[in-house]
Amino acid sequence: MSTSPLDILALAAHRDDVEQTCGGTMLKMAQQGCRTGILDLTQGEMGTRGSAEDRAREAADAGKILGVCWRQALDIPDGRVENTWENRLKVARVLREQRPRVVILPFWKGRHPDHYTASILGYEACFLAGLTKLDVEQALGTQHSALSQGAVASAPHRPFKIVYATLYYDVRPTFVVDITEQFEARLQSLMAYKSQFSDQEAGRAIFPAHAEIRSRVEAMARFYGMLAGVTYAEPFLQKEVGLVDDFTAIPVRSI
Ligand SMILES: [Zn+2]
Repeated sequence: MSTSPLDILALAAHRDDVEQTCGGTMLKMAQQGCRTGILDLTQGEMGTRGSAEDRAREAADAGKILGVCWRQALDIPDGRVENTWENRLKVARVLREQRPRVVILPFWKGRHPDHYTASILGYEACFLAGLTKLDVEQALGTQHSALSQGAVASAPHRPFKIVYATLYYDVRPTFVVDITEQFEARLQSLMAYKSQFSDQEAGRAIFPAHAEIRSRVEAMARFYGMLAGVTYAEPFLQKEVGLVDDFTAIPVRSI
């Protein structure tokens, strides 16, 4: 268990979502000395391949490859991520415990309902976590003895920055992160989900083969890299405008 606050917390519906959408960025930030963490909302019990236990082990392996200090999965049902008061409180409790400065959420549109619901749920939990008068434990009806960090866990906390990882959805990002140096490790972190991504019989019709996954991951990273003049990148969107001090230092060539 970590004791000092996280710099960055990435939240996603499913184990392996972070690896697919912002794993390179998480590794890059860890390499730059940040304390990073991942909160998966579900445990993956509905997956065609592998059990929730398999995925827990694989998620720990993948997290190690990405250099995260902390990783946890909540008990929200897989395939049924709902933006309920209880679920918002569960996420708010983690935010108060881990106290991240930056939160990475999934984009708020997408094909999979769990993904876009996790986005709204995550945002609203960030808001709730900062409410001084909200006692999360009391609202959840849990015993104080069950708290992992006692009174500290209840102190309000609101992240400074929320950014959205947009890789699952075709939307123009507001910025990308150069992950050229991290690309191979990020791919390895995805392949750590052996129950999902190794070539096998179960779910053959819906899961692409190993080589195909590599090509797809590479094509996406290439595309977003190309937008910024680097080899590989991951896309993000922020709702706020960018703030510039020095016109001569704005990156990405125009012409
Ligand atoms: Zn997912």
